[in-house]
Amino acid sequence: MLTFQELAAVTNGKVLQFVQPLPLNHLLTDSRKLSQPSGTVFFAISGKYNDGHKYLAALYKQGVRQFIIESEQTKTGQNYSTLFPEANLLVVENSLKALQQLAAWHRSQFNITVIGITGSNGKTIVKEWLAQLLSPDELVVKSPRSYNSQLGVPLSVWQLNSNHTLGIFEAGISLPGEMEKLQPIIQPTIGIFTNIGSAHDEGFTSRQQKVQEKLKLFTNVDVLIYCPDHELLHHEVQAQSIKSFTWSRHHEADVKINAATTAGHKTIVVYTYRNEKQRLAIPFTDEASIENALHCLAMLLYRQVPVAEIQDRLDRLHPVAMRLEMKEAINGCYLIDDTYNNDLAGLAIALDLLANQPQRGKRTIILSDLLESGLSEEELYSQVATFIKAHQVDKVIGIGPTISKHQAKFDASVAFYHSTPDFLAQFNPDDFRNELILVKGARVFEFERIVHAFQQKVHGTVLEVNLDALVHNLNYYRSKLAPDSKLMVMVKAFAYGSGSFEVANLLQFHRVDYLAVAYADEGVMLRENGITLPVMVMNPSPDSFAKLRQHNLEPEIYSLGLLEQYLKDLPEDTSRHRIHLKLDTGMHRLGFTPEDFEMLFPLLQQYPQVQVVSTFTHLAGADEALHNDFSQMQISNFRSMAAEVEARLGYKVIKHVLNSAGIVRFPEHQLDMVRLGIGLYGVEATGSEQQALKPVSILKTTVSQVKSITKGETVGYSRKGIADSDKTIATIAIGYADGYDRRFSNGAGQVIINGKRCPIIGNVCMDMCMVDVTGLHVKAGDEAIVFGPKLTLTEMATRIGTIPYELLTNVSSRVKRIFFSE
Ligand SMILES: *Cc1c(COP(=O)(O)O)cnc(C)c1O
Repeated sequence: MLTFQELAAVTNGKVLQFVQPLPLNHLLTDSRKLSQPSGTVFFAISGKYNDGHKYLAALYKQGVRQFIIESEQTKTGQNYSTLFPEANLLVVENSLKALQQLAAWHRSQFNITVIGITGSNGKTIVKEWLAQLLSPDELVVKSPRSYNSQLGVPLSVWQLNSNHTLGIFEAGISLPGEMEKLQPIIQPTIGIFTNIGSAHDEGFTSRQQKVQEKLKLFTNVDVLIYCPDHELLHHEVQAQSIKSFTWSRHHEADVKINAATTAGHKTIVVYTYRNEKQRLAIPFTDEASIENALHCLAMLLYRQVPVAEIQDRLDRLHPVAMRLEMKEAINGCYLIDDTYNNDLAGLAIALDLLANQPQRGKRTIILSDLLESGLSEEELYSQVATFIKAHQVDKVIGIGPTISKHQAKFDASVAFYHSTPDFLAQFNPDDFRNELILVKGARVFEFERIVHAFQQKVHGTVLEVNLDALVHNLNYYRSKLAPDSKLMVMVKAFAYGSGSFEVANLLQFHRVDYLAVAYADEGVMLRENGITLPVMVMNPSPDSFAKLRQHNLEPEIYSLGLLEQYLKDLPEDTSRHRIHLKLDTGMHRLGFTPEDFEMLFPLLQQYPQVQVVSTFTHLAGADEALHNDFSQMQISNFRSMAAEVEARLGYKVIKHVLNSAGIVRFPEHQLDMVRLGIGLYGVEATGSEQQALKPVSILKTTVSQVKSITKGETVGYSRKGIADSDKTIATIAIGYADGYDRRFSNGAGQVIINGKRCPIIGNVCMDMCMVDVTGLHVKAGDEAIVFGPKLTLTEMATRIGTIPYELLTNVSSRVKRIFFSE
């Protein structure tokens, strides 16, 4: 194992302080993910949105004693060696680079075959499939999930140990210069270039440049596997004379694809390899999966897996769940459904997620036997038990013969079962209440049956909320903020329909400064679910003030009448009471006007225990350029009114005016804080920067029935849907009671089924509606997208003359929310 001095040499760093030799096992870059302080070395990375050096003190307090830092002193000039007298400190020029150098050094200690994968799409699936397909012959180590970034790659490669015989790592880049840094870390001996598409085009001057940059991963490979039907890629590989092994439908290739035809749920591929024709059934029918499978086929052939055995292995291939989902379940429980696969790295990621949800009752894990890890059983389950312990899990349910054998290692409350059917036979829903349950099983254990047993709503309509997209949007707006501007995020109306607790929790995790809700009950709900951020309540009713105080929620006060009621029953104690003053500068909804000031301040002066934390106003037309002059007038009136507020109070308060549209349009008026709303949820209200945001919500339902009708027949209530020709009609399980607006009736609305747009026919009913699927191959059970990335909220809102806000917040509470990250 590397010593601290050797680490300094590998990273060209300077040992600022060395106290004692310590094991160097865990590389930590996100302070929130600390699990085992002893043996952890923390890399303080200064990134675009955050600076790891801010968390050194907290980590030191938690017992971390090895730090990689970028300067000897804090920004305020204190010496790190004085602050952390017991820690080993290494100063490097750039902590991320040091992490990469360490990983590259680690990689160079192993002389094994390593497959490096890049390309625009399919990297993760090809990686996961290859791991499945090659595991009969090899002990495989691979990137967890989609760990393919400048940070993810070093962490992936760090897992390599001396038992592994094959590494499979993916690399993704978004800018020139990045792949050069990843190549020495992965040092692939075999390459796969999956394909080239539009992803990250914006970072490169041309597609060709993007291909050239990506190819830098393969500067030292023995062979590159790719499909020359991607002409641009083919051209570059040839120009650079990279040794290759190819499959193709259209070009000369090592593996020539003669035909690929769909048969039921399979695709039959006929190919020629070494002058012999072969047939292969791939257990998928969509284009992307076929391409991914053919890359795998090429790899198996290249690795000389006997042709006769390839079919056998492919038959056992299963789709890869690309995401971790959090679902509502019985008795107030939530499930984190991770049926991805069960290895040690995946377990660590899922446990992090579990631990980062605020405590709301117990934390439980249902865990199957783990897949091969390159460790002995003894070591493996000791590590699993240590991980679980470090993540404060209350209850462990182990399923499988191997994990059961090692049950003595777990010291939480435990139960073990030999198999999934054993567990289900004894399953009693009453044993689970208000728990957050991580369900993590290797594929063969069929844990989807357990997930099913826990789920409550069977209604087929779901609103999927992409938590990664939320974070992306949050960071986008953050990137626009001056360093000392605070960020308040609006989570009113169930976080714009997206699920208040879950969204608030994510925002708390990502350290926003403030949350705001409309009503007291919304705030109470947040507190009951462990949200500790300051929360402003915008529309407090007078009878809710006691409740607000009890839950440490801060009311917005917008009129003298409301203030009097608030002051009337302030308790006679010494506590501070925080309020926010809303000023009306032209919206004419709520707020004080200058005329109120004569009464307002003398009244406040009588109550020194009341502290005005902030004062703000709301723009009436920030989304439209047409109202720019009006907005400017509101802002300038606010500035002078707010100055008077501060002068009369005699102390500083937080001043804020901008909503999402305002942040984009008036960046120079951020003042002390901004209030982000709809932008977080993926809609850029001015329209000019929509490209920069990611869509967050996907509303989906399913087809209940498909039927044929003949010309002249009618569909639905009031016989409004008239068939002007013979038609095929699909009934889908969403209606106005789910929030699907009745104005979508009769062709105004569309849904996407199997990638095709289908218009609504007839009137939208309460729980259902009908769509025209004539000429499309639609069957009962197919998925229908009501809105999502390809059918945007903005488009759907425009179709019926409303705004995205209304569509989002209308999705009714009976629609199950599913939260996922990729
Ligand atoms: C809802 C709301 C916001 C956020 O508005 P968006 O247009 O969604 O960004 C900001 N301020 C106040 C007072 C609000 O009520």
